[in-house]
Amino acid sequence: MKILLTGGTGYIGSHTAVQLLNAGYDVVIVDNLVNSKEDTIDKIKQITGKEVKFYKADVRDAEAMDKIFSENDIEGVIHFAGLKAVGESCEKPIEYYQNNLDSTLTLVDTMRKHNVKKIVFSSSATIYGIQESPKYVETMKRGTPSSPYGTTKVMIEQILEDVYKADPEWKISILRYFNPVGAHESGLLGEDPKGIPNNLMPYIQKVASKQLEQLTIFGNDYNTPDGTCRRDYLHVVDLANGHLKALEKLDGSENGVYIYNLGTGNPKSVLEMVNTFKSVNNIDVPFKFGPRREGDLDEFFADPTKAEKELDWKAEKTLEDMCRDSWNFAKNAMN
Ligand code: NAD
Ligand code: UDP
Repeated sequence: MKILLTGGTGYIGSHTAVQLLNAGYDVVIVDNLVNSKEDTIDKIKQITGKEVKFYKADVRDAEAMDKIFSENDIEGVIHFAGLKAVGESCEKPIEYYQNNLDSTLTLVDTMRKHNVKKIVFSSSATIYGIQESPKYVETMKRGTPSSPYGTTKVMIEQILEDVYKADPEWKISILRYFNPVGAHESGLLGEDPKGIPNNLMPYIQKVASKQLEQLTIFGNDYNTPDGTCRRDYLHVVDLANGHLKALEKLDGSENGVYIYNLGTGNPKSVLEMVNTFKSVNNIDVPFKFGPRREGDLDEFFADPTKAEKELDWKAEKTLEDMCRDSWNFAKNAMN
């Protein structure tokens, strides 16, 4: 079965490409490389020993997308392509809405023309906004995210639901990721953001490799056991496997829109993350406590029961695995 991955040279897309190829799927990737590099394709081939077809194109380019669907017998799509930096989206809302919404609309329009009506979409826990409980369940209503980035995810979920309402031949799986971290155990694939990272794990990696002097932990007076924020970190390979399960599930299901949280259900604090990184890698990560970062919640985490029951998916890797694999990738890639 041939699957198109939009944004497939990115962090999560590349790990998913590996898991799909290993499971016997054929993979086609389209990416404009705005936040990734073409040599990722070679790395995917090196890990799997399999071929991948790559198109360097923008998903907003209807002609290019039409060509891809004409040249390949695509049976389903996993839609990763998008801009994803929360802070940047507040400074550049137009670029974020334009990129994330236009690419989705062009994609589903092209799929409709080619009668491909199976899609898995990368959504995010950010769509929950602030809820009464920090344990997010799929039955909760979509809330108000704290950034334009998050709002694009809310809007795209709505678009996909409307697409299904208008044409019940679609099979749509919406995956709400919590906090993906970690890297492929080969050390070839991982996350290496340009510039100063915003997210915790890439920042820790840069401090450990001495490219940045020290980590600032944003706040230690939160309502959590050690005072630092807690999040639901999950290993990117577990997350990639969730996509495989979601695709398989769509094949065996009736048409419809299916929504799943992908997380461990076990929140970890910033301090737990830093201490685990230090001990499993036997490396120092200097840090200081600083003021809270605007918009951060004390904690939130997934209720992953639905994915466990319906997809037969469960995050298996530990915080130790996440820290070890992240450093194994970063010590080579970042130097
Ligand atoms: P990433 O930036 O590594 O990958 C996204 C890829 O999409 C990049 O390779 C980029 O070049 C490409 N891209 C962006 N706009 C494009 C366009 N118009 N046309 C073609 N390619 C385009 O990000 P990631 O962490 O792999 O995230 C993948 C998806 O998962 C994104 O939609 C993101 O919003 C979502 N997500 C990520 C996280 C996270 O913490 N990493 C959490 C929740 C949801
Ligand atoms: N964090 C931190 N210092 C940093 C980056 C992040 O203390 O330099 C904290 C942040 O306050 C949050 C947690 O680490 O509590 C995870 O932040 P990240 O941006 O990775 O994820 P998100 O906030 O989107 O869940």
